This record gives sequence, structure tokens and C-alpha cells, in this order.
Amino acid sequence: MNYKDLADLIFPDVKEISYYEEKYPERNLPEGAVVTRFAPSPTGYVHIGGLYQCVLEEVLTKRTNGVLFLRVEDTDQKREIENGINGIIDSLKSFDINYDEGMVSESEEKGNYGPYKQSIRGDIYQAYAKYLIEQGKAYPCFCSQEELDEIREKQTAAKVRPGYYGVWAKYRTLTVEEAAEKIKNGEKFVVRFKSPGREDRKIKHKDVIKGNIEFPENDLDIVIIKGDGLPTYHFAHVVDDHLMRTTHVIRCDEWVSSIPIHLQLFYEMGFKAPKYAHYAPIMKEEDGKKRKISKRKDPEAAVEFYHKEGIPSQSVKEYLLNIANSSFENWRRANPDKSIDEFDFQLNKMSVSGALFDMVKLLDVSKTVISRMTAEEVYEKASEWATKYSPELSKLLENKEYALKVFGIERGNKKPRKDIAKWADVMENIDYMYDEYFYAKEQNHEYQVINENEDIAKILSLYIERYDENDDKQAWFDKIKEIAGELGYAKEVKEFKANPDAYKAHVGDVSTAIRVALTARTNTPDMYEIMQVLGKDVVIDRLQKEIERLK
Ligand code: GLU
Repeated sequence: MNYKDLADLIFPDVKEISYYEEKYPERNLPEGAVVTRFAPSPTGYVHIGGLYQCVLEEVLTKRTNGVLFLRVEDTDQKREIENGINGIIDSLKSFDINYDEGMVSESEEKGNYGPYKQSIRGDIYQAYAKYLIEQGKAYPCFCSQEELDEIREKQTAAKVRPGYYGVWAKYRTLTVEEAAEKIKNGEKFVVRFKSPGREDRKIKHKDVIKGNIEFPENDLDIVIIKGDGLPTYHFAHVVDDHLMRTTHVIRCDEWVSSIPIHLQLFYEMGFKAPKYAHYAPIMKEEDGKKRKISKRKDPEAAVEFYHKEGIPSQSVKEYLLNIANSSFENWRRANPDKSIDEFDFQLNKMSVSGALFDMVKLLDVSKTVISRMTAEEVYEKASEWATKYSPELSKLLENKEYALKVFGIERGNKKPRKDIAKWADVMENIDYMYDEYFYAKEQNHEYQVINENEDIAKILSLYIERYDENDDKQAWFDKIKEIAGELGYAKEVKEFKANPDAYKAHVGDVSTAIRVALTARTNTPDMYEIMQVLGKDVVIDRLQKEIERLK
């Protein structure tokens, strides 16, 4: 009896690996094309770290005309939750992550390199495990839990490194006949890789992000096929990324310590290993210290958080690119209208120690993103958010024609106004443009430099007399100057500065008084545009009411 007979006994019904090698040929892609994957376990939940990876992968594959695929790693069936795959797919969709191949629902997929769900690739893994057994590079291991515990106890007593390796690998040296005998007797087993490694030898690995790293060789006889016939992560990774013709494995650096195992497996199987890019997880600063962003402690770890807050997916994506490559910010400034897919993202320029998550910065990026949207886009996205999360805003936006005018204020300018960071801000940002909200709020006018009721009333009365909604912006402003002059305020700020004692205040203060009367705010977008949108009747009515209130 030889290795081949043993392999046939263990896996009698699987195909030869040549079948799969032909079925999944090298991809015919342009030079430099990146083929990579997002490979979550179906826990129904995409973490900000997963989204981060997807955003980078999408930009990278689009730019190089490569392929991004979604592979579901569901070989640990204990951890699985119902509808977990759909949860992931929906999260990716909600951030407009477009992948080329992979799962599109719990059971459907697209692409020629599937199945993309590991639990239905059992035959494939077994074929490759058989291939290793045939060459004497893998073997059945009959160790029970008790035996494993016993080995560990002995190792502890002998003060040696724990693990299933070398002399401790109890079933490694079983003869083919002995192993066959046990299998025929129905003894339970797993399949282990017979590691040729030695712990006292080093391997060198060049990681795309982390650079050169040295590791001791792997000498553990790791399990490749579990008792349930499914592969372990290590083995599935190697078989899948070989057959799916992955060029770059981009994954969180919690996996970097597995590199010796993975490279060894690739080598012993006779496959070319992909490039590895291990990125550090996104960090958060707390009490002056950096720590990993955590599902348990940080609401912003769950991608659902961004939807609830109404932070547009485009903003989140831009922000993530921003923290991935510091050159993004300048690129964006120079190319405000380009799609992020045109950004020359570089894996090797990522921070080795982990990007820091900063909500303030994210909201800042988001303000810029929203400021570049058309009024129509703002309307559509804010309404969509409101339908789910804010009946009040939904109601406010019912009159689309008017809402478009409100969102149109200062939009499309060379330097558009950056005042909305998320859809949850919209209500507060625009409610004063609606009489029903304007009057419903407590009238809390904070007048500034000109703050005597009588002075304000005079300005407003004169303004009501002169206001003509057909004035263009210049004529409109000239009138405010004129009123300022008549009431003894400086018509130019310059004049005022040159001679402050000669005036009570200046034209800017007059304009502020009108602004506060009209909007109950000191800071608003362009007042001329606001008046145009409110319309003459509302403008006059608000000013008159304010004169009354000030009496
Ligand atoms: N299923 C693994 C995880 O969710 C994937 C790691 C990898 O990308 O290879 O962590």
C-alpha cells in the first residue's frame, strides 16, 4: 500500500486537481491588473474595517482593470447567522461597492471562478488535500481531544513550545497501513499538512504594506481538512486564492503571523503565492492612546451607523481613502470633479501603524462632498434618508420645487457653501426657510453690534419701504448702503475703520440686523438669495412682525 492508495481510501470520489486547474485558467487581464477579494465570514455585519478594505480594493481593481470578487468564508458553521450573506451584500450595496464576481444573494453568484461560497466547495478542497496525501505531504490524524490535551500537558511540563509539530505530532509517523486500518475501523480523523519546516530556520517575506519581515519557518502540522470534511481557513485560503487567480491578498494584519503557514502551503502545493498586503486596523484615539476601533465600544464601527446618521456613502468612502493614502487630500483638491476611481491609490503608501479614525475630519470631508452635489441630488438623498429616519424632514421636503430652491442657495458657486455634513443636519440647516418652523421656534433673535430695539426697528422700517424683489444683487446691496448712510452708519467698512468714532456702526452691521430679523440667525448663506427664495410677501411679513415684536 502506498500514499496514493491511502489517498483513494480517504477521498474515493473526488476529481483530479487537473480538472480544476483547467476549469479555472489564468485570467486573461492586462498587465498590472489587480485581482483581489473581500472574503468575510457571514456574520451579517460589515465592520468599518471591512468597508475600508473594500473601498481600497475597489479603487485598486477599477484603476488597474482588474477584478474584485466577494467570497463568503462560511466553513465555520458554528459562527454563522441566518441571512448573514444578504446582510453583507446589502451593506456593500448601500456603499455602492461594485464587485465584479462573487455572491449576489444567499445562493446566487456571478463570475466564472466560483462557487464563491466556501461551504459548497468541499469537493475542491478535498481534491487538493488528496493531492497532498498522494505525495506524502499530508496525512490523516486520529488525535482525540484527550490526546491533544495530554500532548499539551507534556509540553508544559517539559517547558517547550506547545503545538502539534515534530516529535509531538503523534500520527505523523503512522505507516500507510496503520492509517488505513484505523480508517477502515471507522476511527474519526482530520487531515493534517506534514510540515517540512524547522523552527530554527528563518523565512523572508516582503509584504506590500509592511515591507520586509522575517519569520521562523512554520513547523506545525496544521489541520487542513476538519472532521466535518470542510477545510480550515489556512487551507481554504490557499486553494481558493490559487484557483480564483488572486494576485493580491489584502487583509487585516491579524493574519500576518500566518504568513509562514500560507507561503509554505503555496510552495508545497507547487503554486505561485499571491502578493500579500497586510493593513493595520483602523485606530481610535482614547485618553491620548491609540486603540483598535471596536465593535463593542464604538458605534461608528458598524457601517449601519453612517446610514442612520445620514452621512452619505460617498463621504465615508472619500474619508477612508483619505486615511489610507495621505496624498488623497491634495489630489481631491486639485481634482474636485473626478471620480475616486481615478485616484492613484497605492497600497505601499499605507500607514504601517494604522490610520486614526477622526469623526470631525470625516464630517469635514462630508461637507465638501455634499457641497459638490447638485440641489437635485441633495434633495433626493436627503429625502431618501428622511423617509427612513425623519418624518419631520420628510414633511418639510414635501414641496419639492421650494426645497430645490432652498438647496440651490449658493450651490454651484465656485466655492460652494459647506454647511451640511449629514442628512441629519438638514432640518436644522434649512428650517428657518419655512414659516411654519420659523414661527414655531422660540423667537430668539440675537442682535449683534446694532442691538437697540429702536435702532433695529428704524432699519427694518426703512428697508421695507425700499425693498424691491426685482432688484439685482448690486441694486439690492446699494439699497442697504443707502439706508446705512441715511441712518448715520458708515456706508463702507473701510470708512468706518478709518474713523470709528464718527459712526455708530457700519453697513455690515446694518445688514446683520436685517439678517437676524429675517432669519433669527447670525450666520446664513447669502441673504440676497435667501430673500429671493422666501419671496417678497414672506420677507416683508417677517420684518413687519419683528418690528412689532421689538416694540
Ligand atoms: N474570512 C476571513 C476573515 O473574515 C478573511 C481573511 C482574508 O481576507 O483572507 O477574517
